[in-house]
Amino acid sequence: MVTSLSDIEQRFIRYVQIDTQSKENVAEFPSSAGQWELLRLLADELGKLGAQDVTLTQWGYVLATIPATVATRDLPTVAFLAHVDTAPDYPGANVRPIVHRNYRGGPIALPDDSTQVLTYKNAPELRDKIGEDIITASGTTLLGADDKAGVAVLMTLAAHLLADPSVPHPTIRICFTPDEETGRGVDYLSLEELGANVAYTLDGEEAGEIVYETFCADRAIVTITGVAIHPGNAKGRMVNALRLAARFAEMLPRDHDTPETTEGREGYIHLHDIHGNAAQVQLRILLRDFEEEALHARARLVRALCEQIQRMEPRARVECVIERQYRNMRYWLEKDMRPVRLAEEAIRRAGLQPISVPTRGGTDGSRLTERGLPTPNLFVGTHNPHGPLEWVSLQDMGRALETCVHLVQLWAEHGRGYRGWQGG
Ligand SMILES: [Zn+2]
Repeated sequence: MVTSLSDIEQRFIRYVQIDTQSKENVAEFPSSAGQWELLRLLADELGKLGAQDVTLTQWGYVLATIPATVATRDLPTVAFLAHVDTAPDYPGANVRPIVHRNYRGGPIALPDDSTQVLTYKNAPELRDKIGEDIITASGTTLLGADDKAGVAVLMTLAAHLLADPSVPHPTIRICFTPDEETGRGVDYLSLEELGANVAYTLDGEEAGEIVYETFCADRAIVTITGVAIHPGNAKGRMVNALRLAARFAEMLPRDHDTPETTEGREGYIHLHDIHGNAAQVQLRILLRDFEEEALHARARLVRALCEQIQRMEPRARVECVIERQYRNMRYWLEKDMRPVRLAEEAIRRAGLQPISVPTRGGTDGSRLTERGLPTPNLFVGTHNPHGPLEWVSLQDMGRALETCVHLVQLWAEHGRGYRGWQGG
């Protein structure tokens, strides 16, 4: 597998130099031209590697097949996904990747901005990476290891399996997706087209991680309509929606059950944005919990506060709509835990300890799982994503590749009768 490291590295270095930053609030999908550039490049490279059925769909999904090397009767088709876009939060153009070869320990200064220094304080995992090759950006951009580490690992996996048919594995589908960072990544992905029974996203962080628990998420949209009147003759008549909104915001939990006061398995109510004027205000509130019942309880609290405001000011109109976002993927996975158990075994065979920390958020995989395609998330070694201190160890990407190679063999050995997504 050591020979694959240089392959992963040169792919990664090439892919991060293409600006694929996604854009919020645009109608187009994919949301930026740079994503198309990388998607086209990947489709082209997959074709040259000998992958079958290589397709770039009208929505910017690259799909390809690595044919099975064993009899596929009763064996599931396994898909691997990675997203090509980088986060809109921080500049993603003109990335200058730097390989810090054979890391000796201590701080890593990024040359293009003297204030950007990786230390054990902001990157504690660096302590365990002595002797490895650490890749960073140069200080003024993000690196884009989220998720080009996943892209580079999957492309190397495809190259490796296509070149060596002696590795026993079922049919494998490779899928690259756009716009994960804006939350729309799998909106237009057809599960029929993907054609897999089980899938993995390669979009995780620390080596050994396998995530199969995510938040349950809903969004409350509270609309407060006041009574709009010219302020010059408003006495006794105006009802200012902004003032009601401010009181409502004050009534939400502040010292507990907020993102800034919770961690681990605790959920929260997050006042996310307020917009409007004296006539009408809309507040969007994110509700998060690992269990659905607790999530509903948070929605009931928001509704109760709305009713309270309504009673305080009967002339106003207070409406509350709860929109479903996504659910904890564990609910679907626990029906047959094979996707998780086999991944844990693959991680052990790659010489690592499996770690499963519930994700305080959602992934493309949570949406796919909810649609019926079980999709846990596997590590690729990314750290400090979405900012200038993003970094990845080349050897961790190698471990992710090794894990995938073991994983596809484990599916060949133990996958018989696995149902997962069955169409429709
Ligand atoms: Zn990601």
